[in-house]
Amino acid sequence: MYDYPLYRPPSEGNSLIIQATLGCSHNKCSFCSMYKSKSFVIKSLEQIKKEIDYFRQVYSYVEKIFLADGDALIIPMNDLKEILLYIKEVFPECIRVTLYGTPKSIMIKSIEELQELKKLGLYMIYMGIESGDDVVLLDINKGVNSKELVKAAQKVKESKILLSVTVISGIGGKEYSKNHAINTGKIISEIEPDYLGVLTLMLEKETHLYNKILNNEFKILEDIEVLDEIKLFLENIRVHKPAVFRCNHASNYISLKGTLPLDKERLLNEIIYYKSTSDLKKEEYRQL
Ligand code: SF4
Repeated sequence: MYDYPLYRPPSEGNSLIIQATLGCSHNKCSFCSMYKSKSFVIKSLEQIKKEIDYFRQVYSYVEKIFLADGDALIIPMNDLKEILLYIKEVFPECIRVTLYGTPKSIMIKSIEELQELKKLGLYMIYMGIESGDDVVLLDINKGVNSKELVKAAQKVKESKILLSVTVISGIGGKEYSKNHAINTGKIISEIEPDYLGVLTLMLEKETHLYNKILNNEFKILEDIEVLDEIKLFLENIRVHKPAVFRCNHASNYISLKGTLPLDKERLLNEIIYYKSTSDLKKEEYRQL
């Protein structure tokens, strides 16, 4: 039933995945190889309904559904409404539907449309921010600037759909690390997301960024520098509403969990602790 590779956010591990689209409508970020093998396609309503019917036969109880692939929010409004209505009809026990939405696909929808989608069961949108620094955003070919990211995110917040965002530590390399940390902290403060995930840049061979590293045009951060960057990023986050903070993805050097702003000091202290033990390990290693 699935067209691989298939991705979903870690928190959707127990969700039924319905591939309403294939690939990513943008597919140009310099660090991302997720959908390089796929051309972007929005499946026909008929096909999506067929797949929903198929999954109903397979699963007797489905509480959560994730609409894949990388940008299901771009599905035209009437079709998306129809998909959500059909999910309600076929899976009446389903309590939440979530999807990835690029900033551009969020901007295409009006607040009223997003509110309507929420009423029909759209519970949360996952949006990749990656960085709040305009130089970095341009460099990674995100296709939007920081102002547009804030605008898109605030639109989701205004519609009362939950917003989960991710940023990538190390995405600015050594050159822009400081600006990336400070400006990403600032943008998160403006957005006040419900969930904030921090990933660490992982090298993918098929990407433009990987070639830049080979050509010495991008200098990847050392582990300790990643910790410094995350610390500076956290220091620059000033949110007033609770934001669940997660830095515990497989890509991360250390595991941090908490809720901002409540746990900010603890999280900063944990980074300081990790840094000191990691320095110690290096020191011990040098003495061997
Ligand atoms: S928008 Fe997301 S999925 Fe699409 S290319 Fe960029 S990082 Fe990859």
